[in-house]
Amino acid sequence: MKYDAIILGSGLGGLECAFILAKCGMKVCVLEKNAALGGCLQSFRRGKDEFDTGFHYVGALGKGQILERIFSHFGLMDLPWHQLDTEGFDQVVLQGGSYLLENGYGQFADSLSAIFPESRAELESYSAFLEKVGKGIADPILKGSGGFDSLNTLFEKSAYGYLCSSISNPLLRNILSGSSLKLELRPSTLPLYTFAQINSSFIQSAWRLKGRGSLIAETLADGIRKMGGTVLANATVTSLEEKDGHISGAQILHNGCRETISANLFVSDLSPQLTLDLLKDSPNVRPVFRRRINRLEQTCGFFTVNIKLKEGVIPYLNRNIYCYSPDLDSVWNVAESPAGSPPRGILISQQIPESGTTATQMDILTPMDYSEVERWKDTLPNRRGEEYKAFKAKKAQECILLAQSIFPNLKDSIETFYTSTPLTYMNYTGAVKGTAYGIRKDCNSLTQTLLTPKTPFANLFFTGQNLNLHGILGVSLTSLLTCSEILGKEPVVPFLE
Ligand SMILES: Cc1cc2nc3c(=O)[nH]c(=O)nc-3n(C[C@H](O)[C@H](O)[C@H](O)COP(=O)(O)OP(=O)(O)OC[C@H]3O[C@@H](n4cnc5c(N)ncnc54)[C@H](O)[C@@H]3O)c2cc1C
Repeated sequence: MKYDAIILGSGLGGLECAFILAKCGMKVCVLEKNAALGGCLQSFRRGKDEFDTGFHYVGALGKGQILERIFSHFGLMDLPWHQLDTEGFDQVVLQGGSYLLENGYGQFADSLSAIFPESRAELESYSAFLEKVGKGIADPILKGSGGFDSLNTLFEKSAYGYLCSSISNPLLRNILSGSSLKLELRPSTLPLYTFAQINSSFIQSAWRLKGRGSLIAETLADGIRKMGGTVLANATVTSLEEKDGHISGAQILHNGCRETISANLFVSDLSPQLTLDLLKDSPNVRPVFRRRINRLEQTCGFFTVNIKLKEGVIPYLNRNIYCYSPDLDSVWNVAESPAGSPPRGILISQQIPESGTTATQMDILTPMDYSEVERWKDTLPNRRGEEYKAFKAKKAQECILLAQSIFPNLKDSIETFYTSTPLTYMNYTGAVKGTAYGIRKDCNSLTQTLLTPKTPFANLFFTGQNLNLHGILGVSLTSLLTCSEILGKEPVVPFLE
């Protein structure tokens, strides 16, 4: 059977592209190497409990806001979304203080101005800037290259440079950046657009899902199947076949059997490096392009502690907490702690309990560089040896210790916990070096690090977090961008309305 389109990978980007193409009448087939769909959105089960991997909260899901508009068209607004506290969706704890971030651009600036009255003008202009970025978020799709021009200007500016020049109080600068473990805070490279777009969406509104993050992937897959599409799990793409300068088929290993599936069009949600690996000896991929892609650097990975809590002990907090070690002078150094040293900053996120006011699960995340776990890269999951176990146990205790500054009785409230490292992500989603947010976009080297959906083949397109933006909103916008490259913008624009 020949499909109109084959989509490689069932991460959010792959599923959304498949959904849009199916909605436009194409016969699509999604190929996913794992048993579970969703990539970073997959959940894992231990006993009766399910834990999330790469999903904790999203922004801009309020009525009429950008992600709500997009998710409505994907049928995702019927999921049990739950809004975080508008008067403190994020809490930043650092340098002896605790600060709540409020929803609404005006309230955001007002509430911080009450603590930093001398910075009111700076805060108002910061907030107005984020609002402007939020308003223009769909321009690259709606306005074509005109929309890209203004966006590229912000991509070429340094987020750190912007904050240093526009916010004079260093503590306030740290607070404004403190909830940004959802991106890679790297002073020398982080583009202003990445920083502004993500923070802007969360200031609009912030939401958790009551239940597993994998509900998002399952709902998208159901939608694709209802439109006549095919979604195959346990189907690893092992290579792509070419004919007359076009991709003609995908060789797959499906439940242990090798087969080739043909299509007219191919969309890859895999990282560009992995996609080119599927075209190893292709004469159509110029060595200079392959070298450029293989040299791209990756953002950091994460170490995660998924905790099952004893019942009735830890209060459920309807917000996320970003907590930094007291000796940290700048949150912008959070990912640069020397290997083996305790975490400098953590994100604490709880799952919404089925009932009651106490939490049953808590995740603690801290950035982790691949180099910390590289020596175990050739080992298999669950067989990495005692040293790796001891490394993880130590790191978990350090994370728990830092979280105790918020929940002093945490250690005694833990029933059991599980950990994951960048190696876990490398194994399950194929993320290069276990990166959490894909290729590192560098404001100093935009043309090299910001990829478009186009590839050396007219019928092969990239999508997913490795292109311009990461995160649920970023990947959704990228899916629309990829599909507008394939179909033209008309079928895609309604997804933004
Ligand atoms: C720890 C962590 C926490 C996060 N928290 C949040 C959050 O709270 N909010 C938010 O908005 N974002 C968050 N993110 C980011 C968000 O999860 C990602 O940006 C997004 O899910 C990436 O989707 P994707 O489609 O680009 O890629 P992926 O999810 O990586 O999907 C790629 C898919 O391709 C499959 N694949 C790989 N190789 C093959 C092959 N050869 N054949 C077939 N299939 C293959 C993989 O198995 C995977 O399913 C987090 C990420 C991490 C890592």
